[in-house]
Amino acid sequence: MRTSSPLLALWLLVFLALPGLVAACRPAVATTAPAIVAAPTAAATRPPIVSTGRPPSPTPPPATVTLTATPAPTSTAGPTATPTPRPSATPNRDILCSERLADDGLLTVVTLTYGLSRDFEPRGLVPLSGYLSGDVTLGYPNELRHVAVGPLVKMIADMQAAGLRPFVISGYRSYSAQAIARQKWAEAEPERVNILSAPPGFSEHQLGTVVDFGSPELPEVVGQEDVEFHTYFYKTSEGLWLADNAHKYGYTLSYPFEAQEATGFFWEPWHYRYVGVEMATFLHEQGISLTEHQLATEPPPCIPDTP
Ligand SMILES: [Zn+2]
Repeated sequence: MRTSSPLLALWLLVFLALPGLVAACRPAVATTAPAIVAAPTAAATRPPIVSTGRPPSPTPPPATVTLTATPAPTSTAGPTATPTPRPSATPNRDILCSERLADDGLLTVVTLTYGLSRDFEPRGLVPLSGYLSGDVTLGYPNELRHVAVGPLVKMIADMQAAGLRPFVISGYRSYSAQAIARQKWAEAEPERVNILSAPPGFSEHQLGTVVDFGSPELPEVVGQEDVEFHTYFYKTSEGLWLADNAHKYGYTLSYPFEAQEATGFFWEPWHYRYVGVEMATFLHEQGISLTEHQLATEPPPCIPDTP
């Protein structure tokens, strides 16, 4: 289900003209507006997006980063807190997407067609600062579901052991936080907000199992200071390692370049989602995204709302 290169270039021209394609995970804008930059090389068929945006932060990052002494949980560690039952969170495929409260499974489909209710909030969120050192979290107050934290900690430890220096730039983002991010992008880039930020309810970050990674190599690779998100992440040492190894830890690339038509989202080589080792390995071996697989094998998860 791959497109050949000539067709890909043609398709991309059509794609760039579509207003509905958006970036799922771009956090709130900072001071510099993002820009789509034409790639000068063979990657010209993969137009990069550049952003200096920072994640929405209720509190500013600390001036001094301190390494935490908290022991890292293992990938087999279970949740430390007993989840509170949420009867309303049962799956219901007969419900409007705007009313959909996802269950606690790891395979919930979220696309521009299949969104989540503003009331959906995942269970078991924990602050990453309790598990990762400040040189990885950059001091951002990100959270993630506990089930995804152990594998993330193990993966980052193995990356560091290999000489890499990955950052975790963004994790869980609530419906309201996504709305704030969307509004800031709308003010900064009103004509391109749809390719820079997902509307609230349509970002996988609301699931609490998604991580946006960063690389210290990115500014040099892109040729721009302070850049945090750019499709050239795929060229960095951290991006290359993740593309080859993330599935071994249960993480999968949600929006590969080839899946834009299925997901509705632009290529985001930094955006990884925890789905468990078995599913992530299956997807890696098949060369497809979770969304492509789920939509091909499962009933529609909810009824899209009419505008
Ligand atoms: Zn993301």
